This record gives sequence, C-alpha cells and structure tokens, in this order.
Amino acid sequence: MRNMTLEKIAQALGGRLYGAEGSDLSDREVQGVVIDNRQVEKDYLFIPIRGARVDGHSFIGDAFAKGVLGVLSDHVLEDAAGPYIVVKDTEQALKDLAAYYREQIDAYVIGIIGSVGKTSTKEMVASVLGQHFSVLKTQGNFNNEIGLPLTLFCIRPSHQVAVVEMGISDFGEMDRLGVMARPDMVIMTNIGQCHLENLKTRDGILKAKTEVFAHMPASGRVILNGDDDKLQQADTLGMEKHFFGLQGQEFFGSAIAGHVDHVDALLHTPQWEHAVSIPIPGEHNVYNALAATAAGTLLGLSEQEILAGIEQVETIAGRNHFIEAHGMTVIDDCYNANPVSMRASLEVLGHAAGRKVAILGDMGELGENQEMLHYQVGQVVVENGIDLLLTAGKLAGQIVRYVQEHGDKTQAIAYADKEALLADLDQHIKKGDTILIKASHFMNFTEIVKVITE
Ligand code: ATP
Ligand code: MG
Repeated sequence: MRNMTLEKIAQALGGRLYGAEGSDLSDREVQGVVIDNRQVEKDYLFIPIRGARVDGHSFIGDAFAKGVLGVLSDHVLEDAAGPYIVVKDTEQALKDLAAYYREQIDAYVIGIIGSVGKTSTKEMVASVLGQHFSVLKTQGNFNNEIGLPLTLFCIRPSHQVAVVEMGISDFGEMDRLGVMARPDMVIMTNIGQCHLENLKTRDGILKAKTEVFAHMPASGRVILNGDDDKLQQADTLGMEKHFFGLQGQEFFGSAIAGHVDHVDALLHTPQWEHAVSIPIPGEHNVYNALAATAAGTLLGLSEQEILAGIEQVETIAGRNHFIEAHGMTVIDDCYNANPVSMRASLEVLGHAAGRKVAILGDMGELGENQEMLHYQVGQVVVENGIDLLLTAGKLAGQIVRYVQEHGDKTQAIAYADKEALLADLDQHIKKGDTILIKASHFMNFTEIVKVITE
C-alpha cells in the first residue's frame, strides 16, 4: 500500500513506533489493513478495536503469529513479538489512517448516499462502471464509520474507480465519513423516513447527509434524485449537479413496466434513449439504473457499456432476492425495512401471478410516529391487492389494523411474535403462492425464509 510504511503510519497518526529499531521493518509498506485477526495475512497491519464484548488487543499475539508487519495498540505492550505503534484510541486511528491513505490513492471515488437504495445503487453503478474501468466496491453493506475505512483500505493502484456506500444515523457522522472518503462524485438516492430518532425530520436528514459536500473538491460532481423534493433543493456548494428521475430530468426514465422478476423501462440521456430490461424487480430499480446511467455518462461510458452494465447487475441475498422452493416463490427482502422500501417490495409482490402473501415484521428506528408509519403500510398492502397478510411484532400489528379497517379482499392476521407466526405458518401457505418476507434486520426474518425454503 503506497506510502503505508510503519514509520509513515506512526507519523500520520501522531503515534509512537516501538520494536522496529535497527531493522528495515519501519520502511516496508504494509500489504493490507484489517481489524479482524482472522483476516490477517503476511505483512498486514492489524488494528485491534475495543468492542462491547471482545477487546481486539487480546488477538495481537495471534496477529504476529500470522505474520503481520505491525499492529496498533492503545498501550505499551509487555512482550510484543514485533513492531507496534501506540496511539490514544485505536478506533479513531482506524479513521485517521483511512483519511491518510485516501490521500495516497488515485482512484476516482464515488460515494453512494441516501435513506434507501444505497446498496442496490452501489451494485448498479459498479456493474455499469465495471464495463469500462477496474472498479472496487463496498463489500456487502460495510457503510459506516468502521466499514467505510475498511473499504478504503481495499483500494489498490490497479483500481481506477471506487464505489463506496456511506450510511449514517446521526448528525456529524457524514462529516466524519466525508473526511475519510473525500468523494469526487456523490450520488444521492432519496431522503426518506429513516433514523428519525436522531435526525427528527426529513430536513434534518438532508442536512446531515449533505455534510459530505464540504469534503469534495471544487471539481466534484453531484448526482441527485430529482423526484425527491428535498434533494431537488439541495445546495451543492457550487459543485456541478445532475438530476435523474421520472419527470423529464437530464437522465430520466419512462414507459416503466414492472414484472415479478424484472422491470422494463426506456432510459433517456441528453445523448441517447434506449429500452432496457433491468433483471431485478421493483420500479425503484429504474431510479437506481438512472443513477448508474448518469454516473456512466459523466465518466464517458458509451451507451452500449451502460446498457450492458445494467442488464448484468446481480441481486443480493436479503434484498428482493427470489427463491423458488416447494412450488412457491419466496421474495427474501428481510435484510432491512422502512416505509419506503416496504412500499417498493409490496409493489413487486403486487405483480405476482398467483396468490400474493406478505409476511411483514416491525420496522425499527422510526421515532415517535412509528405506529402511524406502520399503520400507513396497510394502505400499500390494500392498494397492491395482497391476498394474505401475516405480521409478527407489536408495531407490525398496526399494518393489520389498517387492513382490517379498510380492506375488503385482504385477509390479515397479526401475531405477537415470530415464533407464534412460525407455529401456524403451514396452514397459511401453499403451492403457487408468491410470498414476500420483510422486516427490519433485528427481527431476524431470515429464519422464516429458511423454514419455508428448506
Ligand atoms: P441500508 O441503510 O440498510 O444499508 P440501503 O440504503 O443500502 O439500506 P438497499 O439495501 O439497497 O438500501 O435497499 C433496501 C430495500 O429498499 C431493497 O430491498 C428494495 O426493496 C428497496 N429499494 C432499493 N432501491 C430503492 C430506491 N431507489 N427507492 C426505494 N426503494 C428502494
Ligand atoms: Mg446498504
């Protein structure tokens, strides 16, 4: 890793290097940076983090045994088997080192930000840009103050572009992520109703997310969802901005036709327009494809490359992932849930040919209006002609309440918890059903997916 010698790392962190005296160890570059000792390889730097249950410092011995070049520590070590750098706080050092390493890399960094659809958009953008560039993307959902630095450390000189997801739940966090990523381009998907506990209102969310702009170069480019009223008004501090959406923006979609396993649309850019078949269902994927089209166009990709990238995007487990099992189609979307993504997923289910079954659980972090926000999902259930609704959890029961008050066709049953629901599940589902399974991550609805598909 360029300029990542122990000597320079110690300097960048304002730390003190021990155990390298009289050797050339301090001048060798580390080959990787990890916080998990199981991922240590030869000549890596290991950063131990103090967690709630485990203290990474207890794995320093193991890290040396696996051949690290050095480690960080928040105290002087008694019997270290190799060089180490003492810093005040190792977690802070992880972030500071990521910011230092960011200065050493030439890759064009693209930050993906928004309440909903970051990971999906990241995949789409990486798939498109991958047609032309060597691309590094965030693995899975590593988007926070720990995940982002670890992603940045994966960037190598061979990478021309890095597509990184940046997720927050409070003020100040985006500022810290921005210091590390210093993106050349930012894509914002939307300003929804997530993390209202800290951010209170959508204006609060907008303010928190746009903290990133202060960390971009004057030549930075911002790509915004123009159908989002808040993003429409975002102040990009003089940086070039581009909008995408469904209402005649610079990059816009039309003729959208949703199907149960894909979505068709016509994409329009200032240079061309073309029909595309997006291999992931859900009208919202047209937005994600448009964001990728904008990024690709601004970075000089051809029409063919952009269309190929969109048509080759892969789905991710837990996010609108289709599984065929025992004659039923299961839509596994239990990775996460909020009002916006609930609507998106129920619309997908609405396209199913057979009986439509929704198994929904609580959505977390919605703040004081949480009951109302669950109740309103009931309307989406009714609008999409869902045949059977089963819920687990106290809040999700509000969805059933709405349906019972307003729906004539939908049968709706509320269970107190997942265990009670699982006990009755067999009597509710049958061959030919399409079953959407969705809740916030903490509800662990993957278990329901397993029960049905195994
Ligand atoms: P997290 O905050 O958990 O990282 P995220 O922002 O990365 O979430 P995704 O995981 O991409 O979001 O998407 C979550 C769900 O939201 C998807 O399964 C899909 O149902 C829906 N979704 C994806 N893209 C959009 C979009 N642009 N607008 C609305 N809903 C979307
Ligand atoms: Mg994500």
